[in-house]
Amino acid sequence: MPNRSGRCLLTVCATLLLALGLLASPRPILANQAPLTPVSLQLLWYHQFQFAGYYAAKAQGYFQEAGLDVEIRDGGYHTPGRAVDPVREVVARRADFGVSRSDLLMHHSRGEPVMVVANIMQRSPLVFLTLERFGFSRLEEIGHRPISVTLPGVDERISAETLATFLAAGADLEALENSAPSWNLQDLYAGRTQLVPAYSTDGPYSVRRQGEEPVIIRPADYGIDFYGDLLFTRQSMLEQHPERVAAFREAAIRGWVYAFENIEETVDLILDVYPRRHGDIDRDLLLHEAEEVRELMQPALIEIGYSNPQRWQSIGTLYQAMGIIDDYDLDGFLFQPAPPTILTLLLTLWRWLLPIISVVTVVAGLAGYLFITNRRLKEEVQRRREAEAALQQLADQDGLTGAGNRRLFEQQLHQEFQRSRRAGHALTVILMDVDNFKQVNDEFGHLVGDQVLKEIVRVTRSGLRAQDHLARYGGEEFVVVLPETSLEEANLVAQRILELNRAHSVQTKAGLIRYTLSLGLSELRVSDRDPWQIIKRADESLYHAKHQGRDRLCVNTTHTLPQPEGPI
Ligand code: GH3
Ligand code: MG
Ligand code: MG
Repeated sequence: MPNRSGRCLLTVCATLLLALGLLASPRPILANQAPLTPVSLQLLWYHQFQFAGYYAAKAQGYFQEAGLDVEIRDGGYHTPGRAVDPVREVVARRADFGVSRSDLLMHHSRGEPVMVVANIMQRSPLVFLTLERFGFSRLEEIGHRPISVTLPGVDERISAETLATFLAAGADLEALENSAPSWNLQDLYAGRTQLVPAYSTDGPYSVRRQGEEPVIIRPADYGIDFYGDLLFTRQSMLEQHPERVAAFREAAIRGWVYAFENIEETVDLILDVYPRRHGDIDRDLLLHEAEEVRELMQPALIEIGYSNPQRWQSIGTLYQAMGIIDDYDLDGFLFQPAPPTILTLLLTLWRWLLPIISVVTVVAGLAGYLFITNRRLKEEVQRRREAEAALQQLADQDGLTGAGNRRLFEQQLHQEFQRSRRAGHALTVILMDVDNFKQVNDEFGHLVGDQVLKEIVRVTRSGLRAQDHLARYGGEEFVVVLPETSLEEANLVAQRILELNRAHSVQTKAGLIRYTLSLGLSELRVSDRDPWQIIKRADESLYHAKHQGRDRLCVNTTHTLPQPEGPI
């Protein structure tokens, strides 16, 4: 279980993430407050990948985030011989947005109030298809063959692109054996027609699948390089609801980005949700179409939706030169997306930054939590170590004087005995007894006696080396174990202890008290089987010291040691 600060940290992290989440999606929240505006989009053809971005924008909720409830209507031939015309639908206000192609400039120049919202395909998918077995590959070779293309006089719809291509090819329109296109490839296979319009994105693929070899005649072969599919609306829509046009545009472009990033998913969406399709459209064909549409859009090179006014100008000039229109007019034809405001820039930036910030916050939160937990754990371990050390010290210490206690002394004596035996080191022991201590107690009281005992330990310690062990042996007797110390060296230490204590006066409430010690010194002998034999000899020496008049050191040795000068 996390402790209190851990829980605190987790709560802060969670709150921060929640706040980030709310801030990162202001659009859906704002959009949800108002009911969605219903708008309709009239497609140019049946449901195919050609319109993938719009399906994706709807399925991903981009239109909804833009406050729009979009109805997507397919085009094509709902009534035989008469294809749905998106321009007419939008102008007549039966639809709000539509998909058209560069013909839109022709309509606009003829006074129809339409305008480009976003150029989706940078190149046109329109091609003319014939079969290899018909034996021709250029429009100039048509002669009296039966053909069916959208030229004036045969179809209500006008395809400026078709007209421009045929005019560029120098075709005599009057002399052509042309009929309205049925958009049914069976007529081509059966030879009822030898040239049909098609989309480069699926037409040649379908013909090959039929086992026929297509011949593709492209407008570009005749210098006609027009824009392909574009999103448009009527001008009054921009005048009355500019924000709606901008929001639709942005959502649709987001949809296109999504569609190309998720081609398989989008193909499945088209198959599942948009059943009315044309001809032999299936999954394979849609996947093929997706790649072809990408080719025409070049989303990696050109910003989706981008319109180049100069290119429109040359399209207009060409229409004019061919007599399709008297004059072209780009005024109010191209929607200019408002430059992004600081707020939208910040929101976009925020959308990109959010995942990074979220991950960093979670990682930092966890790291912080682990860091704090780890630090607390370390502190706890340290605290316990110190407590254990303190307890150990208490267990090893004499409560009155702070010297080692009897238990510690015995442990150290045994350890040093073993070490000396193993390594062949010398080992010496000094036993000390306070002279006439009873008198101190009797004269000044026990408390003063205690104070003197404490002073003896302090003064004695000051005369010892770090490796020497001083312990209270019992009552007013003390013992010093001197590891790796010869009798000669220990003799010097003992002398020092004797003198330091002799020279010391204890400041008590009863006045200055002086005292002396008697010391017995002995060393480890090779013949010793246990350490108590050294103690026993030191005790004997101490006994001698007492009997020789106290305030002196007696050494238990087989040889003579240098004697200090002074009153011993
Ligand atoms: P000497 O050793 O020189 O023969 O004479 P002494 O008076 O010191 O004799 P002995 O060693 O027999 O007496 C020890 C006395 O030390 C007895 C006791 O009252 C006193 N003593 C022992 N432990 C303590 C203690 O913790 N505090 C105090 N104040 N006195 C203690
Ligand atoms: Mg004693
Ligand atoms: Mg004594």
